[in-house]
Amino acid sequence: MSTTHSYLTDGHLRLRDQAQEFGREEIGPRVSRMEAQGTHTDRELPRLMGERGWCGVIIGAEYGGMGLDHVSKSILIAEASYASGAAGGILQASHIPTTAILYLGSEEQKRLWLPQIARGLWATIAVTEPDSGSHVLGMDGTARRRGGGWVINARKCFIGNSGIAGLHVVVVRTGKPGDPRSLSAFLVEADRAGIEVSQPDLIGMHGFTCGIVSLADVRVPDSHLLGEVGDGLAAAYTASVVCGRPNLAATALGLHRRVMDETLAFLRQRRRKTGKRHRETQQLSDHPVVKYRLGEMTSRLMAAERLAFDAVNLLDQGRACDTELVQSKLFNNQAAGETLRDASSLHGGYATRVDHPITRLLRDIQHVGAPAGPDDVQRHRLTEKALGVDRRQWSEEFLRRTYSLAAAA
Ligand SMILES: Cc1cc2nc3c(=O)[nH]c(=O)nc-3n(C[C@H](O)[C@H](O)[C@H](O)COP(=O)(O)OP(=O)(O)OC[C@H]3O[C@@H](n4cnc5c(N)ncnc54)[C@H](O)[C@@H]3O)c2cc1C
Repeated sequence: MSTTHSYLTDGHLRLRDQAQEFGREEIGPRVSRMEAQGTHTDRELPRLMGERGWCGVIIGAEYGGMGLDHVSKSILIAEASYASGAAGGILQASHIPTTAILYLGSEEQKRLWLPQIARGLWATIAVTEPDSGSHVLGMDGTARRRGGGWVINARKCFIGNSGIAGLHVVVVRTGKPGDPRSLSAFLVEADRAGIEVSQPDLIGMHGFTCGIVSLADVRVPDSHLLGEVGDGLAAAYTASVVCGRPNLAATALGLHRRVMDETLAFLRQRRRKTGKRHRETQQLSDHPVVKYRLGEMTSRLMAAERLAFDAVNLLDQGRACDTELVQSKLFNNQAAGETLRDASSLHGGYATRVDHPITRLLRDIQHVGAPAGPDDVQRHRLTEKALGVDRRQWSEEFLRRTYSLAAAA
């Protein structure tokens, strides 16, 4: 089930059809094998998505990308997530470092990295550290000037696509703690000496790596500084607000739609004997209580879809929209979680079977809450908005510096 929006062009709808076909034919058949393998680095799905140019959906044609808008990006992420949470996770994580490069990269850096990403080089954004978590300014990892370059020491955790990355956008401390300009961002090739990647077991999204990237005395030249010294917080927040939040809203939306479809299919094939002599049967979906619950679920899904696309549509119109981006992620994660709880009830005992699609979706949704700011952080931002606290608009700054994006033609 998916709703219509007045701003979806024929190109958007065609892109959605193509993504759905890819999901059915290429992603779907791989899901049970990926699930059975548990936490692992899947290389096949990233290769297939990379070959289609999906890493470069918001990269301009002048850098070899598809040159499409944020609505198109959300369509691809939602459809990949519908087919497999891991596929959605892999795809969404790749656009966040791309956004940092689009925002802060010099022309030379863009010419070097964006065409490679558009052809299927996977990148990460490496911000989170074990002790500081979502308090980005509290990080300990450092970059110190040495000779004509920098030496980076940091331990980054929960880094999406860590197992397949060719490039890391690493944010570390270059100044005194507490100063908002005390962080800087660096472009670090994954094969530089001193980088180690490890992967703890994760509850869901099997095939998507989200591991630890350790950097021990990693040397990079000056040309690898992204933006200016002190732009690290802007790199992290812009990428997170403008790209991470809508990407996770789209991931949650894809999972949410899948939950709905799995539940409807389950209820339709499950029949109850009715009538005085039990000669008739009724679909479970015809039961009034079940119908009521399905109505609630449908209403929630429609609202979630509207919020996910309205927020990115504002971005495509060049309008500052931090609050809408925050709300789209919070609502989509919460709504998908509630629908999963309803779906679990409707699946009865089957919701306890590890091999049932609904339990895979329950595990996968756990991966949507924390990245790009946990729900409580989003609530905190919305409360500030309600109280009239004036905050820097990351989307406004991003839009001022980047080119405008085209709708799918
Ligand atoms: C699947 C996945 C992918 C990820 N991908 C990346 C990635 O690619 N790159 C990257 O750098 N990081 C990534 N992360 C890390 C993610 O950004 C962090 O998990 C997140 O910032 C929260 O940090 P934390 O887990 O240390 O929790 P903490 O910051 O310790 O927060 C724990 C809890 O404390 C509360 N809390 C903390 N701070 C506040 C606040 N300011 N206001 C209100 N409540 C608060 C909230 O309830 C929060 O859930 C990923 C995480 C996951 C699970």
